[in-house]
Amino acid sequence: MSDPGKKTLGAAGSETRSEGGGIGSGTDHGILGGAGPKMECGVCWQVYDPELGDEVWQIPPGTPFAALPPHWSCPHCSAQQERFLVLTE
Ligand SMILES: [Zn+2]
Repeated sequence: MSDPGKKTLGAAGSETRSEGGGIGSGTDHGILGGAGPKMECGVCWQVYDPELGDEVWQIPPGTPFAALPPHWSCPHCSAQQERFLVLTE
């Protein structure tokens, strides 16, 4: 007989640190530097700003680059995430 479904405990959002609500509605409570560094496409120099998100991919503001979905790619030239470099100011 086979196991009736062994559930794999993946990284399915148990690490989400929510501070009473979430991003979206309401006042700008200040996403200052909490979303990680800006990232720059090594191909077309498109900048991903985590404070702004990405409206092409419908990424909400405040999303760190590391939290982008795995299928995310450069909205300008479709370069993969590994082509992006940290943008130091
Ligand atoms: Zn690009």
